Amino acid sequence: MIQKMATEELDRFGEKIIEGLELSDDDLRALLSLESEEELEKLYHVARKVRDHYFGNRVFLNCFIYFSTYCKNQCAFCYYNCKNEINRYRLTGEEIKEMCKALKGAGFHMIDLTMGEDPYYYEEPDRFVDLVRTVKEELGLPIMISPGVMDNSTLLKAKKKGANFFALYQETYDPELYKNLRVGQSFEERFNARLFAKEQGYCVEDGILTGVGNDIESTVISIRGMKSNNPDMVRVMTFLPQEGTPLEGFRENSKLSELKIIAILRLMFPKCLIPASLDLEGIDGMVYRLNAGANIVTSILPPDSRLEGVANYDRGMEERDRDITSVIKKLKVMGMEPAPQAEFEKILGC
Ligand code: SF4
Repeated sequence: MIQKMATEELDRFGEKIIEGLELSDDDLRALLSLESEEELEKLYHVARKVRDHYFGNRVFLNCFIYFSTYCKNQCAFCYYNCKNEINRYRLTGEEIKEMCKALKGAGFHMIDLTMGEDPYYYEEPDRFVDLVRTVKEELGLPIMISPGVMDNSTLLKAKKKGANFFALYQETYDPELYKNLRVGQSFEERFNARLFAKEQGYCVEDGILTGVGNDIESTVISIRGMKSNNPDMVRVMTFLPQEGTPLEGFRENSKLSELKIIAILRLMFPKCLIPASLDLEGIDGMVYRLNAGANIVTSILPPDSRLEGVANYDRGMEERDRDITSVIKKLKVMGMEPAPQAEFEKILGC
């Protein structure tokens, strides 16, 4: 559909999206089928045009605190699944407090508190609520929580203590693929937890994986599935095989690249936050993702941190290029800059 368009036509297409044009399933199929470098560059051009209309050259910065890597689940793609014999950690309240001190004034727009479905917190969810309270008191910044499928009453309590965003990735809306990825977990419970959070005034993030056995049809289903949540942030991440997991040996030469899907998400969700994660390719990867239409940098680690990311291209490396100073430096080179905090809070409706 955009293969033959010249620059002015591409711009016109971007304008139509801004005016409210909705892509059909056939449009999605056509865009997901794009392959050549030239076609993809055209797609990124339109995505940037739409992104720039709403956000200009301003980017948001999300600090990632993976405070517990314990988990009771067995997701086939995840390094932290409970069957994997790995070293795990759970930060203490004191350690989190200390970390907050180091984060004061660092320039983050939001703090993302992530954990596996750690039995320590699931048995006594008020421990989790307490942690949210501590981080809010220390930093006063918007808080994203990524605690897995937490019960409704804990979500409400966490909101009262200052949580603003609830992140919960479905990974796929293709029921067969879901069963293989989120082994033994209910599709509906996951979907409903996000729905409940949204109804209660949280902003919500949904996300899908690519390169994990999803074809064009299942990707269309997943994009439509995410749309049905009315999310505030939508993410796509490339599956990276993880040592010690059932999908350790899975390799796919996927044509459904993360960058292509990021750009399509920008056309489907023009006003949403779309992450450029550092988790897979660090700062260089951030540049590609921003150029494909993303507008929030995620998986930035706290200063001097040895904490985990999610997929961790840099696990075990001595030098980790995932700090906020390196990110801002690179943004400047790209002609972009961190957005004012007020702009972020407007999105949250704070
Ligand atoms: S993806 Fe989340 S819920 Fe699944 S095993 Fe990993 S940490 Fe646990």
